[in-house]
Formats: sequence, structure tokens, C-alpha cells
Amino acid sequence: LEDAVRPAAQQLGSLGEAVKGTAGHMAGMEKQAREQQAAAERALHEATSQLQRDAARGLEEALRPAGQQLAALGEAMKNAINQMAQLDRTGREQQSAAQQASLEDIAQALARNEFVAFFQPKIAMQSGQLKGVEALARWLHPALGEIPPARFIPLAEESGLIVAIGKWVLEEACRQISVWQAETGQRVVVAVNISPRQFAAPGFLAHLEELLATTHVDPSCLELEITESVMVEDAESAIALLHRLRALGLKLAIDDFGTGYSSLAYLSRFPIHKLKIDQSFVRNMHAVSEQGAIVQATIGLGHSLGLTVIAEGVESETQRAMLSGWRCDEIQGYLISKPVPAEQFVLLLHEQV
Ligand code: C2E
Ligand code: CA
Ligand code: CA
Repeated sequence: LEDAVRPAAQQLGSLGEAVKGTAGHMAGMEKQAREQQAAAERALHEATSQLQRDAARGLEEALRPAGQQLAALGEAMKNAINQMAQLDRTGREQQSAAQQASLEDIAQALARNEFVAFFQPKIAMQSGQLKGVEALARWLHPALGEIPPARFIPLAEESGLIVAIGKWVLEEACRQISVWQAETGQRVVVAVNISPRQFAAPGFLAHLEELLATTHVDPSCLELEITESVMVEDAESAIALLHRLRALGLKLAIDDFGTGYSSLAYLSRFPIHKLKIDQSFVRNMHAVSEQGAIVQATIGLGHSLGLTVIAEGVESETQRAMLSGWRCDEIQGYLISKPVPAEQFVLLLHEQV
């Protein structure tokens, strides 16, 4: 049996050898395949990286001109901004040069008698009777036509020219008082706006005294409208001057009341006759209840101080009715009349008779 089996066992043994050999061969093939795969992956990775590098370089090259353009644009913008700043500077210089020129124009206008006074009536709330007029300066420019005070009063104030303009308006007011009295027999009270600079100018009181003496105008026909701002510099001397003006027999009113330096402590010491409620309060009082409250309280304040209270800038019947309900004494505004030339105002005077 042993002999019979031996060849089979030998065959089995060599079969085992053959299998072992095949397995080794297969492991070798597998390793080779793995190495080939890794090599392929490396090659792919390198190729991709190269591609990415190429793409990036391509992009960079493509973008370079855009970048340069952007830088150039930035430069251009910087230049434009510089130019604008320069233009702005030149503009401002030219503007102040123009203001200089118009200052000369104002002085020339005064010398050439291009100023006229317009007059706006004030009426008693209850009776509707004419109580007086406010003289308002107008510049009748030969080429530009009517120039409103807002266009020249601030500049005149700043430069001091207002003193000369104000003097002229006072003289014009006195002249008109005499003319109207002669023409209609009526004593018209004319209110004149006195700028803070004019009020503080040396010789203001002396000029008024001289004016009253030479024109023989009844001082109670002349009313001075001053603003609270005259108190800012030196309240004590302002109060002293007001006393002297009142002693002359002039009427005194605080204009634009409520917009400035409203010190109630000083107000009680002002020897004045009248409070003018600023038109900015009157304008909105029917719509804004707080503004209405201010107007109503101001009327009460004025009355407790023994003052006459007038509202300016009255444009509507609604405003008139509200003011009437609050016992405001006088009103002035477009509802009654716009400021008009003297010749037109005299027609109104004739109607009154
Ligand atoms: P102000 O003294 O408050 O004069 C009232 C202004 O309101 C005037 O403007 C008048 O025309 C305007 N006004 C009157 N009623 C109404 C109204 O119902 N509605 C509206 N929207 N406005 C009305 P104007 O004549 O342009 O004067 C403006 C300012 O110029 C005056 O304000 C005054 O501060 C100043 N001013 C005018 N003339 C002189 C002057 O001779 N000397 C001085 N120092 N200032 C003057
Ligand atoms: Ca006024
Ligand atoms: Ca006013």
C-alpha cells in the first residue's frame, strides 16, 4: 500500500509546490499592479498641479491688464478728487469775491438812491382798524429788478453798511409820516427795523434826536423794532439806551420774539411797548399744537407784562381766528396786505377815512 500510495503522495507534494509557486507569482503581480496604480496617481497629481499652475498663470496674465487699468483708474479718481477740491476752493474764492463786489454794489445803490421803502399795514384784531405800518427796505436794481432784504441785509449787517442803510430808512419813515399827514390828515405810526449793529453804533441816539428835531415828526409816530439779540453783547447798556429812546417818546417793539436770546428776566426789564410774535410760530400753529401753545403762552406773557402783542406772517383766516380767540391785539401779514409802495399805501389810508 505504501508503495502504491507513494507516487500519489509525491504527485500531491509537487502539486503543493506548484500551488505555492503560483501564489507567490500572484502576490508579485498584485504588488506590481499596486505600484503601477500609485505611479499613475502620482502622474495624474503632477499633471493636475501643472494644469492648475498653468491655469493660475494664465489667469494672472489675463488679469494683469485689468489690474493695471484698476490702478490707473484709482490714480485718475485721485486726480479728479484733487481737481474737485481745487475747483471748490476757486469757487469759494470767486464767491467771496462776488460778495465783495456786491458789497460795493450795495454802497453804490445807496449813493444812487436805488433803495425804496415798502410799507406793510398792521391792523387791530377786534376792530380791523389800521394801527400802523412796518417800513421794509427794498433795493430796486436798475438791471436786476426788486432785490429782497434777505439778499443784502445780512451782508450789510456784516460789513457795517447797515448803519447807513438804517439811517436812510429812518429818514424815509419820517418823511412819509409828514407826507401822509399832509395828504390825509392821519397820523400813521411807522415801524422801522433797527439792526443790532445799528442799535449799538455810536451816534444812533444823537441821529434820532436830530431827525425828530428837523422833521418835527411826533416821536410817538415812530416805532423801533429791535431783536432780542441786542442784549447779547451788553444787556445793561442796551437797557439803558432803550430807556433813553422811550424817554424821547418813541414806541419800542421786540421783533421776532421767541427766536433769539429770550431771557425772560431781561424781558421784564425792557422798557418796551410791544411784542411781535415771530412768523415761524404763526406759520405752523394751526397744524403743530406745540407752536400754537407757544403763541398762546406768548400772548398771555405779553399781556401780563402790560405789553401789546402782535402776530406777524398771518396768511389765513384760520390763523386769524385762532389769534382772535387767544386775544392777540394786532395782526400783520399777507392776509391783510403784502408790503406795498408808499403810493399804494396812501390809497389804503384814503379808504380808512
Ligand atoms: P421782519 O422784520 O421779520 O419783516 C417781516 C418779513 O416778513 C418781511 O420780509 C415781510 O415781507 C414778510 N412777511 C410779511 N407778512 C408775511 C406773510 O404773511 N407771509 C410771509 N411768508 N411773509 C410775510 P422782507 O421785507 O423780505 O424782510 C425780511 C427781513 O429783512 C425783515 O424781517 C427784517 O429783519 C429785514 N429788513 C427789512 N427791511 C429792513 C430794514 O430797513 N432794516 C433792517 N435792519 N432790516 C430790515
Ligand atoms: Ca420787523
Ligand atoms: Ca419779524
